[in-house]
Amino acid sequence: MQYDFKNKKITVMGLGLFGGGVGVAQFLARHGARVTVTDLRNATELSPSIKQLEGLPISYKLGGHCDEDFANADMVIVNPAVPRDSRFMRLARNNQVPMDSEINIFFQLCPAPIIGITGSNGKSTTTTLTGNILQQTQRTVWIGGNIGKSLLLHLEEIQPSDIVVLELSSFQLEELRNSQTSPRISVVTNISPNHLDRYPGMNEYIQAKKGIIAYHKPSDYAILNYDDPELRRWEKECKGNVLWYSTKNRLSDGAYIDGNAMVLSVKGKAATIPCVSNIKIPGIHNLQNILAAACAAYLAGAHEQHIENTITSFPGLEHRLEFVRNINGVRYYNDSKATTPESAMAAVTAFQSPVILIAGGYDKGSDFEEFAGVCAKHTRTVILIGKTAKKIQELIILKRGQKEAPSIFTPNTFREAFLQATAIAKSGDVVLLSPACASYDMFLNYEERGRQFKDMVSAL
Ligand code: ADP
Repeated sequence: MQYDFKNKKITVMGLGLFGGGVGVAQFLARHGARVTVTDLRNATELSPSIKQLEGLPISYKLGGHCDEDFANADMVIVNPAVPRDSRFMRLARNNQVPMDSEINIFFQLCPAPIIGITGSNGKSTTTTLTGNILQQTQRTVWIGGNIGKSLLLHLEEIQPSDIVVLELSSFQLEELRNSQTSPRISVVTNISPNHLDRYPGMNEYIQAKKGIIAYHKPSDYAILNYDDPELRRWEKECKGNVLWYSTKNRLSDGAYIDGNAMVLSVKGKAATIPCVSNIKIPGIHNLQNILAAACAAYLAGAHEQHIENTITSFPGLEHRLEFVRNINGVRYYNDSKATTPESAMAAVTAFQSPVILIAGGYDKGSDFEEFAGVCAKHTRTVILIGKTAKKIQELIILKRGQKEAPSIFTPNTFREAFLQATAIAKSGDVVLLSPACASYDMFLNYEERGRQFKDMVSAL
């Protein structure tokens, strides 16, 4: 597909704070388009993104959208977070204004092969691990996508012999379907209910995720988690090769754990990497992320040594089960990125020590029943904040039955929650922020929530 942006009137709908909006606005402005950026959020909320666009000839319509920017544009670039039934998108459609997205433009124009990584949880960790392993090889590696960096601005530097590793959200994958493309290597970490405030149901969410394999060619690869019951069903829809990974089963073709070794058995060749005891990031879920990343990097040319070096030194990402500090024997962990019940369950069960959990937040329609059961079994105290606090509280009370533990508190503020946790915690305990919910009811985003937590820990 050829694009010509010169002198075109292009509306970027949704600047956001994750990098995609900034990337595409910069890219379009530099290619001579007349760009209008419009967002429901105001300039103060968007200031980190607006700062990055300083000096570029871009006009802004913030704090809401205007009809004319949709009815009279030459093109509208839609942020993946915008709901598909938006009145403004309909307006553009009714006026025959073409719509596109940052990720589509990148896929259409990128000269290098792309590894795409999606899943309900573990995307950023797996993306970073894959990129880090490949960085040890001779190839130049570009890491971006939903992880918070648009690679559009680097298009001119990317060579066909390079490799691109992209984190892809379900919303971006929906966009990608429109351009009938999938990555050459696709990784899916797991599928559990997420964003059900945006999708009519689980089937629609799964359909969106399947965009990552929908346009595979016979030589392409789908790397799928064998331990995930939903993903097991995907095999028959894969048009390319399938490579499974598992922390529970030995696989004849795929990656698995055998004692202290990671075994990669691909195309009849087996590589054994003795490394498990040296992995620094905790939890079975992280072992799954490591297997997924090892498979992807191996298929893209990494050797055993590159994989071992990376996975045994990787300290984890900020806000993902991030160790903050040990104060008088109490260990504080920031897992603010855990915005789904499944991710918070993975965090809670990663510890042997008693857990004092701070959870709750924005309600995106998740089902907290299983999470409440895990809290009832694996925590000593649960401190709940935000919109979902009452809902989760009721479920934990049901799950704990006659038991006294865990005790439950529902303070009004995040600060109170934190102070309560520190007051209760004894030497040997873990104070864990793993909210199981998005942050938008009380914070700008999960990063702000995590930073506030870490600031409070530092101030102790
Ligand atoms: P994503 O990009 O999909 O949100 P991250 O790698 O940023 O995933 O991790 C987000 C949170 O999800 C982490 O804080 C951790 O608690 C949890 N998590 C990470 N990997 C997994 C996994 N494979 N399965 C379940 N939960 C996970």
